Amino acid sequence: MTIARESSAAVQRRYIACPHCDTLHVEALIPEDYTATCRHCGHVLAAPRRNSYARVLSLAVTALILMLGALFFPFISLEAAGLSNRTSVVDAMLAFSDGLMLPLSIAVALLIALIPAARLCAIAYTLVPLVFGGRPYRHAETAFRMAERLRPWSMAEIFIVGVAVALVKVSGLASVSFGPAFWAFAALVIVTVLQDNAMCRYTIWKSLENQRR
Ligand SMILES: [Zn+2]
Repeated sequence: MTIARESSAAVQRRYIACPHCDTLHVEALIPEDYTATCRHCGHVLAAPRRNSYARVLSLAVTALILMLGALFFPFISLEAAGLSNRTSVVDAMLAFSDGLMLPLSIAVALLIALIPAARLCAIAYTLVPLVFGGRPYRHAETAFRMAERLRPWSMAEIFIVGVAVALVKVSGLASVSFGPAFWAFAALVIVTVLQDNAMCRYTIWKSLENQRR
């Protein structure tokens, strides 16, 4: 009897592949606050943490609010020869929206605003029912998969580095001061990094799978 049970357990044995080096590991129950790493390359496979869904959800909502501020508040103001000008990121996108520069405008809007916002909404959509203990919403798996696929295309932090480099050049020609949107962007980058680090993908996929049953 014991042998029969063991052999059926062996058949049902499931594996986790390391996303970094493809080494296969037998899936085991990972308790909260423990970290499972790849035995070959040390890549973190799973790191379930207590209240991590609530933390990731609150960081995602914070990031969405910061993003609104970062896009619509004045980003920088320039002063030269008695003239001053202040602009927001949305104004800057619209300034390129006609003629040959239109593709640039669309790319900036996608990479800096729409894709990061879509990712954050998809993560919130996936996590809200998990935080409140209900069944996942319809298509939550698709939403979470989309959020993961779009991760490399979410470039708010690259934008801020680009702006910093450009401002070093401009500061010789005009006096530059940062508006509230600049600080909102800086905070957004930090919150995004915290949210990405707090999110254990393995645990989320596992919860989606188990709650469906
Ligand atoms: Zn590995």
